[in-house]
Amino acid sequence: MARLEITRDYILAGNATFTAHNGAGNWYTFKVTRKESAQYGLNYFASFLSGQDNESDFTYLGVIDPEYLRLRITRKSRQHEGSTPVRALTWALDMLSGRVDGSKCPAAEILPSTRCCRCGRKLTTPDSVKAGIGPECAGRGAVAPVRPAARVVTNSSGETSYPAMERHSERPAGGSPDVASLEEDLTQFGPEASIEDVAQKLLNNRLTELGIHVE
Ligand SMILES: [Zn+2]
Repeated sequence: MARLEITRDYILAGNATFTAHNGAGNWYTFKVTRKESAQYGLNYFASFLSGQDNESDFTYLGVIDPEYLRLRITRKSRQHEGSTPVRALTWALDMLSGRVDGSKCPAAEILPSTRCCRCGRKLTTPDSVKAGIGPECAGRGAVAPVRPAARVVTNSSGETSYPAMERHSERPAGGSPDVASLEEDLTQFGPEASIEDVAQKLLNNRLTELGIHVE
């Protein structure tokens, strides 16, 4: 069977989701979204999967320089240069650009997201991506076996990375609630807006709609 592989063109295509794993049970899922605006020009926003919903639970990381395929941390990124997701994406981009020798980590892969062949939902965990079917569908509706949160990692700074267990319901693709994407929020509030800024503004907007006064 041919290996699933992605290229630089895939990363920069506009709405790419991919998973980098080290072959030892650790992985991160990233999304790179292309946005062009008169005010900010062309930007490639990188985020990583930080929750259970692989359609919406992405946290902003930084922007990608399309020429050199390098991640740049911006002022509003909540992740510092040495954080695990930043290092994981940097490693993935270095692999794709040939800046690191992939033969030294032969079990590592950078996989495109795929769709479940039964229900059509997006798949991002390495096993599901390669099988082409989610755990619930593979179990034909039975309760999916609970996998350990394989990549919860606490580094020497005491920083803990997020588990990204795949939420895989029987909801058909496209049938999910219309959750505004992080990128759209960032575009709305500017590329330098932090998650907190966006969340606070969205919350305030909602409270105002409900007629609740916020000090
Ligand atoms: Zn499925």
